[in-house]
Amino acid sequence: MEKRQELYKGKAKTVYATDDPAYLIMHYRDDVSAFDGVKLAKLDKKGETNNKINAYVMAKLSAAGVATHFVRLLNERESLVKAMKMIPVECVVRNVCAGSMAKRYGIAEGTRLPEPIFEFFLKSDALHDPLVNDDHIRVLGWASVDEIAQMKTLTHRVNAVLKPLFADAGIDLVDYKLEFGHPVADPDGPLVLGDEFTPDGCRLWDAKTGEKLDKDRFRRDLGSVIEHYREVGSRIGAPL
Ligand code: UDP
Repeated sequence: MEKRQELYKGKAKTVYATDDPAYLIMHYRDDVSAFDGVKLAKLDKKGETNNKINAYVMAKLSAAGVATHFVRLLNERESLVKAMKMIPVECVVRNVCAGSMAKRYGIAEGTRLPEPIFEFFLKSDALHDPLVNDDHIRVLGWASVDEIAQMKTLTHRVNAVLKPLFADAGIDLVDYKLEFGHPVADPDGPLVLGDEFTPDGCRLWDAKTGEKLDKDRFRRDLGSVIEHYREVGSRIGAPL
């Protein structure tokens, strides 16, 4: 697979074309951002740490029967993925109340939820990713009824795999964000998990001490961000 031109530079990853239009290369940079790109920094080793954690988690999901765009690790900072047409919404699942949900409803961070709560957000930094419901998504044409149902089912299946995976490592999987799309090579087929699963897009708390092991360390200036990301990786068994 030959690396070609840069296609898109996001906040933490750069996407490159390959000689096959069905595949892309995702390059994980050391950049970190928060608050819709307002707070920015570079963290040494973040790119390779997230590339390897993502590869490990995606392989676990794939082994459990959840289709993902991940193909294989290429090198320290790059992975080969299927080219996808993404649905422009973010799927969030919450096992414990935190972050925007805690603020929105005035519920204490750390409140356990009797069952997981699913939320959709529109993917738009300019609009600060507003919460949207099924009707907004369907009527405004961002996804079909069937795609909405698939995003919910797949997200709950991901939760059923990842909650125990982190629990076995002594980590509470509090919440996380997923994005789905259709592979360009199979535009009418089922939705496939895209983007990434790394400590940048989830909340992970040490099950005993409650210590934060995720991007809240950066958002809230708690320090030692990548040391904690790497601890997550080693505790779940990801080769770093
Ligand atoms: N999240 C994300 N990208 C976003 C918004 C949220 O990865 O654009 C993740 C976030 O890291 C957390 C979960 O989704 O694990 C829920 O985020 P929340 O709605 O609480 O928003 P926050 O205030 O943390 O951005």
